[in-house]
Amino acid sequence: MNIILLGPPGAGKGTQAQRLVEAHGMRQLSTGDMLRAAVKAGTPVGLQAKAVMERGELVSDEIVSALIGEELDGMGPTTGAIFDGYPRTAAQAAALDAILDARGRTLDHVIELEVDEDALVERICGRFTCANCGKGYHDAFEQPREPGVCDKCGAREFKRRPDDNEATVRTRMAEYRAKTAPILPIYDQRGIVARVNGMADIDHVTAAIERIMAG
Ligand code: AMP
Repeated sequence: MNIILLGPPGAGKGTQAQRLVEAHGMRQLSTGDMLRAAVKAGTPVGLQAKAVMERGELVSDEIVSALIGEELDGMGPTTGAIFDGYPRTAAQAAALDAILDARGRTLDHVIELEVDEDALVERICGRFTCANCGKGYHDAFEQPREPGVCDKCGAREFKRRPDDNEATVRTRMAEYRAKTAPILPIYDQRGIVARVNGMADIDHVTAAIERIMAG
């Protein structure tokens, strides 16, 4: 199964993707995570992407589509893919069609997480993750059970994304509205879009996604 999770920054794509990975052994393909890893490693792609990401603008279509192709090539042919944060433009949507086609894969579902944008700024600006295992937390909504210690792996180091500040979040939202939301009709025409209320609590959103995948 190959699915796209679509929605503005902070809609919960990463959280839901991680759950699907754990429940079904699918692979999360997050271009944001790949780019952050490239920035950290100081690769040529990372050097090119760093400033763009800090501004909240979009990295070039060629770069992200190449990352996705490479990642798929490293996966077993029967492992399901969850595209998280990709595609983000019409050019990327077209590239993904070709990438999947070349690998004998088809797109099963595009799941749009519908959210209230005003609530997203609060969601994003309070979020942080375990530096070791990546488990997500939030200042207001989900602190570790024992302060300063990760619930999942016991690590004591946490990190925040440099682009999770209000000014950058506003740019990321504007990019979403201008370039990403307009790709939905492409998938609507194929009859593969399902919409989920992304403001519901995390378990409800997961259950709704599971129903779509089962049906
Ligand atoms: P994300 O983790 O998905 O919020 O992505 C963080 C940042 O990485 C974005 O604000 C963009 O600068 C860049 N990025 C991630 N995925 C893409 C993509 N598919 N196309 C262009 N830029 C991307």
